[in-house]
Amino acid sequence: MGGRPDTDVLVVGAGPVGLLLACELALAGVRTVVLERRAGAHRESRALNLHPRSLELLGMRGLAGRFLAAGRTVPGWQFTATLRRPLDFRALDTRHPYALLLAQSRTEELLARRAAELGVPVRRGHEAVALRQDADGVEADVDGPGGRTVLRAGYAAGCDGGRSLVRRAAGIGFPGTAESMTAVVGDFAVADHGANERARRHGVLVARLEAGLTRYVVMDPARLRVPSTEPVTLEEFRTSLRHVCGTDCGIGRPRWLSRFGNTTRLAGTYRRGRVLLAGDAAHVHFPVGAQGLNTGLQDAMNLGWKLAATVRGWAPPGLLDTYDGERRPVGHAVTTLTRAQTLLVELPLTAAYGEPAALLCELLDGLLGIEGANRHLAARLSGLATVYPPPQPDAHPLVGARMPDIAVTTGQGVAHVHDFLHGGGFVLLLLDGGGPPERGTAGPVTTVRARRHEEHPRLDGATEVLIRPDGRVAWATRATGHGPRAAERARALASWTGARETGAREGGP
Ligand SMILES: Cc1cc2nc3c(=O)[nH]c(=O)nc-3n(C[C@H](O)[C@H](O)[C@H](O)COP(=O)(O)OP(=O)(O)OC[C@H]3O[C@@H](n4cnc5c(N)ncnc54)[C@H](O)[C@@H]3O)c2cc1C
Repeated sequence: MGGRPDTDVLVVGAGPVGLLLACELALAGVRTVVLERRAGAHRESRALNLHPRSLELLGMRGLAGRFLAAGRTVPGWQFTATLRRPLDFRALDTRHPYALLLAQSRTEELLARRAAELGVPVRRGHEAVALRQDADGVEADVDGPGGRTVLRAGYAAGCDGGRSLVRRAAGIGFPGTAESMTAVVGDFAVADHGANERARRHGVLVARLEAGLTRYVVMDPARLRVPSTEPVTLEEFRTSLRHVCGTDCGIGRPRWLSRFGNTTRLAGTYRRGRVLLAGDAAHVHFPVGAQGLNTGLQDAMNLGWKLAATVRGWAPPGLLDTYDGERRPVGHAVTTLTRAQTLLVELPLTAAYGEPAALLCELLDGLLGIEGANRHLAARLSGLATVYPPPQPDAHPLVGARMPDIAVTTGQGVAHVHDFLHGGGFVLLLLDGGGPPERGTAGPVTTVRARRHEEHPRLDGATEVLIRPDGRVAWATRATGHGPRAAERARALASWTGARETGAREGGP
């Protein structure tokens, strides 16, 4: 190995996670190349659902409007299709209290457009076939239309899905449980939607997509053990629908048919040396509750600025390792939750548990009607409940949590806090007339002086807040005296952004 790197970061995989990560790196001024083995874009609807936290993240980069314009919002989403009452996201404290129905192919198209705007080269038809690393960088063998080439980079990010070559090449284990159950999914043109309610009552997941298409997800008790590698036919789909709900729902002309399983695995680490993992490369599970892509997008937002800080040389010691420290516990929580949800799906389909399982579902349905229970599970499913452990036990309660998108008044008028994050740097929010920072920072920090527009209980008396590029609170204080506040602030800026003796930028969104 050795030689000049061709790029700072090599992202393997132009799925939604790789594309968002590449955008984050490019926004931070890091040279990035994306490799994608598919020659062109696909048309699969797969991950149909962007949850509130994903919409918040997109909003922080000024992109939420594009996504909302392309899809259709619904008030909530099923915890499992076996429960009749969907979770109601309207109870959540967010600017986006809904789920956005948008086919994965469209999500990827919009992210690819953003990547193009930021000048990221996405090399389609290029497959990474081997990867090596040493102390100075990584090197990939790449098969493309012109034959095999070698690409060198400072770091590699494996966003190459559940069968990740990058993960295997880095020697990272993928322990978990093997597939024991499968379901079929299909997108169809359906003329008459009269049977959909009946299908839903029998546990079929039905969702109307754009362009006259409808998605059905069916779990046929007679075919649960068919391996996911076996192709699905239209005839099998019709038979399974009839078997489960007594009608084939008038499906015809499939746009996409697939079989998927409940393999559940979590990478042993998200970082080995100069190789990092994100998205399905790091965690796979049954797609119940629509959490896979949403979790992956949050990985990308967490990793992007940390990797950029490392490449650009201003990262405080240990920053890149906090990616594994913060995100792998989330991956663990999601893979555990989906196993519990999968059990709730499987029990009513298992002859031995028919009646008591139906009663269990009825009981849980009743519980979801209670406001607190709905809010608890909705916050968990939507990604809003995630809190990273604070670095100090006596930290302000906001530290590690997501910054609430409160309205504030600045010299330029009223704005939402998330709008200050469009540039991808830190935001130092000085509420109640706090003074400017005395010391500059090595990392990008925008100082915003603002007055609270509303008294938000989640601010918990904070007078100053340092917000990370991914919208998490790095530091906050309730101190009111100028001296103590300035000293605390200087320490926080130094530990997060590497303070130096030049002026910080100031401004609005
Ligand atoms: C039926 C179904 C429904 C789902 N519904 C939802 C949902 O509603 N919500 C949700 O959040 N999630 C859902 N998921 C899960 C979701 O699809 C995945 O979590 C998501 O695709 C992960 O994105 P990714 O970018 O990590 O990986 P992928 O989407 O798998 O992308 C990986 C990319 O890497 C490329 N690649 C692989 N190997 C190489 C290589 N060696 N070199 C170059 N390129 C390579 C692949 O071609 C691919 O484009 C669903 C999944 C299924 C199967």
